[in-house]
Parts: sequence; C-alpha cells; structure tokens
Amino acid sequence: MKIKFIPESTRYDSMIYRRCGNSGVQLPAVSLGLWHNFGDVDDFQVAKDIIYKAFDLGIIHFDLANNYGPPPGSAEKNFGIILNDGLKDHRDELVISSKAGYYMWPGPYGEWGSRKYIIASCDQSLMRMNLEYVDIFHAHRPDPDTPLEETMAALDHLVRQGKALYIGISNYTPDQTRKAARILKQLGTPCLIHQPKYSMFERTPERDLLNILSEERIGCIVFSPLAQGLLTNRYLNGIPADSRAAKSSSPFLSTKQITPEVLEKIEKLNSLAQQRSQSLAQMAIAWLLKNPVITSVLIGASSTRQLIDNAASIKNLSFTDEELKTIEQILK
Ligand code: NDP
Repeated sequence: MKIKFIPESTRYDSMIYRRCGNSGVQLPAVSLGLWHNFGDVDDFQVAKDIIYKAFDLGIIHFDLANNYGPPPGSAEKNFGIILNDGLKDHRDELVISSKAGYYMWPGPYGEWGSRKYIIASCDQSLMRMNLEYVDIFHAHRPDPDTPLEETMAALDHLVRQGKALYIGISNYTPDQTRKAARILKQLGTPCLIHQPKYSMFERTPERDLLNILSEERIGCIVFSPLAQGLLTNRYLNGIPADSRAAKSSSPFLSTKQITPEVLEKIEKLNSLAQQRSQSLAQMAIAWLLKNPVITSVLIGASSTRQLIDNAASIKNLSFTDEELKTIEQILK
C-alpha cells in the first residue's frame, strides 16, 4: 500500500529565510538543486526521499533546468511526479525554478537565447513538471549571438503570460548582468536573482559580480557550493565507486581534478571544520552564507544523509578572523 507523505509540522522552525534582493521573495539559506541524482538513471525512491526530507527541513526552493537528468528533461519529469504524489497541497509554499539555455533539441532553436527557444522550452518544462507556472525562470547562460534585449524580452513575456512569477539569469558576466538588469528594469520585470558558480574553490564572483548584485539589489543563489563534492569528506579516503567523480554519467567532475594538492587543501579544511565542530560541507556552506549578498546556497545531494548534513550548516554561520585567515592561507 502506498504511504502518503505527511510533512513535519515543525518544518519552518529551524531553517533561515533570506530576502532575495529588493523583492518579496525569501529563500531558504540552503536550497536543493536537481542537476544530478534525479534523472532516469538514478534511484527514484532515493530521489523522492531527498525531496520530502528537504521539505521537512524547510528547504522550500527546488532548482531545475530543462536539461537536467540524464536523459535531459527526466529530472523535471521525475520532480513533477514526486510533487504530484506528496507535495501537491503545498504548491503555494514552494519556490520552483527552471532554466533554458543549454542544448535540448536539434536545430537552431534548441539552445541558447532566442525568444523562440526560451518560450518553447519553458512550455516544455511546465508540461514535464505538470505545473501551471514556475516561480523563477532563468536564462541559463548568456548567448553571444542573440541580442540581450531579445532574451530579456522573452523572459519578461513569460512573466506577463503567467508562466513564471519572477525571472533570473545564470552564468552572466558582471557586464552582461548590469546590461540585463537595465533592460529588465525598462521592461518592468526586475531581475530577481543571479545564479553564479561560487565556492571556496571558485572565487570569480568576488571580483565584480557580488558588488554589482549588491548595488542593483539583485539576489544571489550560488551553485556547486561544495565544488561538486570536493569540499566535503567524500574524497578524503579515496574515490568511492558511487561518487560523482567516479560515475560515467557525470562527466563534470573528473577523478583527474582530485590531485594531491587539492587533497591536501581538503584535508586542512577538514581539520579546521572539525575544530569548529562542523563537517567540511557545513563549513563550506557557512563560509558562503557569511556574506549577506548571498541569498541562498544551492546544494546537490545524493542521499538524505548528505542533505541533513548540509541543512545543519545554518547552526553555525559565524567565523573568527583567525579562522577566515586560516582558510585563505589554505586556499592560497
Ligand atoms: P554541490 O557542490 O553541492 O555538489 C553536490 C554533490 O556533492 C552531491 O551530489 C554529492 O556528491 C556531494 N555532497 C553533497 N553534500 C555532501 C555531504 N554533506 N557530504 C559528502 N558529499 C556531499 O552542488 P552541485 O554541483 O550538485 O550543484 C547544485 C545545484 O546547482 C544543481 O543541482 C543545480 O540546481 C545548480 N547548478 C546550476 C548550474 C548553472 O549553470 N546555473 C550549473 C551546475 C549546477 P556524490 O554524488 O558524489 O555523493
């Protein structure tokens, strides 16, 4: 017999919610992304358990994209089934996002930033998830050939059609972000959020992007905060067969990236985390959240155990100057 999912009544008791730029949106400090572990190649029951556990922990923001899987589209399809099974009555509590930008179908209108692709892709995502609207729709990557005005107008159009409540951008450079923000303001649909890659191992946003987001009052949700698992205890004792680095279906983290130098850094960071009575994953998340410009840290998880570990990072978000200095020395 199918057991109905009944969410915890305590689910809002411990999670922290942060305002997203200059908007009415508040996101959990830790959000869950479905890039990996929710495709048709993955264990459906594990995926389901992770989503429901996330909701129980107050993680109400789920981030998807048209191409998440594999195969592309299957993460949205599976999320739609899980949502319909157990979270249908809670749709108004959830912030669900999707994106278009990467390759989805053949021909000139299957990727990038044309109006035709963006609108068609959003329609397909809604169909796969069995939703009437997404809360946030992102341009997944800048298109070097389509005018920025066209891509932004397409996003604005989705909002006017009621298919998205807010819009965001991802992987846009600081300069593109300023331009996009200006165009969107003129259109009357402000840019809610930017989704850049940011972690202890990827510091590019610190150069200009975070200042621009702060000035423009745009929210920031950072992806791969654990450097796809490197900033955890996952690889401290070798490369587990079920890890992202070992899986052929995840060509984005290679075992070649786990060099002796990287391992040395991970070990030192892990010792510091232990001194703070945190796991390394928790310290890596807290280190990002110490900056108020960061609205939310968008984690991935292949088990409820990892999810629970990551959600608990909010218990200690403060660092001493000494700890911050030590982290910089390790990362140098
Ligand atoms: P992370 O850096 O959080 O990596 C997640 C992986 O790290 C997990 O799958 C797991 O790997 C491992 N892990 C997580 N928590 C723990 C833990 N506590 N202990 C040990 N290992 C742990 O993020 P992702 O790279 O998965 O990205 C997160 C989300 O960001 C995506 O799902 C997506 O929504 C978004 N994203 C957006 C992009 C964009 O272009 N806009 C690009 C990439 C991601 P393992 O499988 O080995 O167990």
